[in-house]
Amino acid sequence: MSRKPLSSLTVVVPVYNEQAGLASFHESLIRRIDSLGYFKFDVIYCNDGSTDGSLERLKSLTEHDKRVQILSLTRNFGKEVATTAGINLAKGDGIITIDADGQHPVELIPELINEWHSGAKVVIGLRTDNSTASLIKRSGSTMFYRLFNRLTGLPIVAGGTDFRLIDKVVQADFARLTERNRITRGLIDWLGYQRVYVPFSAKPRLHDDSGYSIKKLFKLAIDSVISMSSSPLYVTAYIGAIVLPLSLLLGLVMAINGLFGDPLGWHATGGAYIIVLMLSLIGVVLMSQGIIGLYLSHIHSESLNRPLYVIDTEASVIK
Ligand code: UDP
Ligand code: MG
Repeated sequence: MSRKPLSSLTVVVPVYNEQAGLASFHESLIRRIDSLGYFKFDVIYCNDGSTDGSLERLKSLTEHDKRVQILSLTRNFGKEVATTAGINLAKGDGIITIDADGQHPVELIPELINEWHSGAKVVIGLRTDNSTASLIKRSGSTMFYRLFNRLTGLPIVAGGTDFRLIDKVVQADFARLTERNRITRGLIDWLGYQRVYVPFSAKPRLHDDSGYSIKKLFKLAIDSVISMSSSPLYVTAYIGAIVLPLSLLLGLVMAINGLFGDPLGWHATGGAYIIVLMLSLIGVVLMSQGIIGLYLSHIHSESLNRPLYVIDTEASVIK
């Protein structure tokens, strides 16, 4: 299926403390898109409570260009929420989300649009070479994708990024998703539209280090599994199903050993058996409590039903 040419495009860029690289990012973005030049275009910078001079830089960009808008949140709500806010505001027939740190190559934009022209509703930049990230981050990410796919049954391709083009139909469905603990790309994948991947190799960040520490990434990984799958709740049941027969077996061996005068030569006291048993059972109980606690905290934050974000209307420049 091919479509009539894209008539309008909105680019959504989450920004958190990116003052150093913003101007050069913006310039390369505008240059790339202007060279395509056949559709209406605007860009929404979602200032996610930056504490550096990002907002001032953005303001100076909007002064010179009426296609540039700023959606400024009152504080740091996290990249996922900032991106969501931008997507909700976007007016284009096609919406591209891209990071401000230069890691997503603007050169790929024409390819994303080409795929849209061929009929794709979700076009995803697929990161193929990530050698700039640390070994821990890379192996962590591989492990995460394996675990995630297994637990949720949602086939998510490793390397799929937030660098995407979505159709306005997808935007409308995306707006219906209300959860607060959210991973934008996971939710877009969940919507079920066929996905088309366009590979690129990740560039190093233009400036400083990633806003995501390993601790933050770990939390993100746990949150995305918890919000997409309830299978961890069953894990403890499985562990229980293994521990119970094992402890029965241990009890049996203990009884036999005791009856026949320690033929195995364990010299284990009753106290030792009890300690082993107690520890394993306490482990199971603590783990299940922890997992229930995680779900409970998610239910808690969802049930508060707070708005997803708060827009600082004074700082925003919406045209
Ligand atoms: N970002 C944001 N809020 C945050 C952290 C990051 O809006 O709390 C933005 C950041 O400015 C960048 C994008 O999200 O445009 C990706 O962030 P980063 O490069 O830190 O993450 P990574 O490349 O590790 O995914
Ligand atoms: Mg980055």
